[in-house]
Amino acid sequence: MKTLTVKSRKATEFIDITREVEGAVAESGVREGVVTVYTPHTTTAILINENDPRLLSDYEKILEKLVPKGAGYAHDPGEGNAHAHLRSALIGPAKSVPVSAGRPVLGTWQRIFFVELDGPRTRRVMVQAIQ
Ligand code: ZN
Repeated sequence: MKTLTVKSRKATEFIDITREVEGAVAESGVREGVVTVYTPHTTTAILINENDPRLLSDYEKILEKLVPKGAGYAHDPGEGNAHAHLRSALIGPAKSVPVSAGRPVLGTWQRIFFVELDGPRTRRVMVQAIQ
């Protein structure tokens, strides 16, 4: 298993980690199998979708619309980050991708994103390829 360190710079940020995941799979030596990309935090997520800046701003808007910040959540007194936990639960902490010929099998427009939902912070992403 390979651990990536990701530094976010904003409160909400979509960071394309496709190259790092491809590198970890190549390093693992797995040719045919599956790779799991997992973030061990409660206010981050892993997303697979298109890396288009306009679309990324649409994601940010829809997250704000679905789970507005400070909408009277029980978890908010103290940390004030309930929205980040709830948004993380919507997207999920992990994704699995098939591996073939030593590479994650992604569609033409698919990229793997680490999603920061309570940044800026230094975070971890685990990448594990198995045969
Ligand atoms: Zn919290």
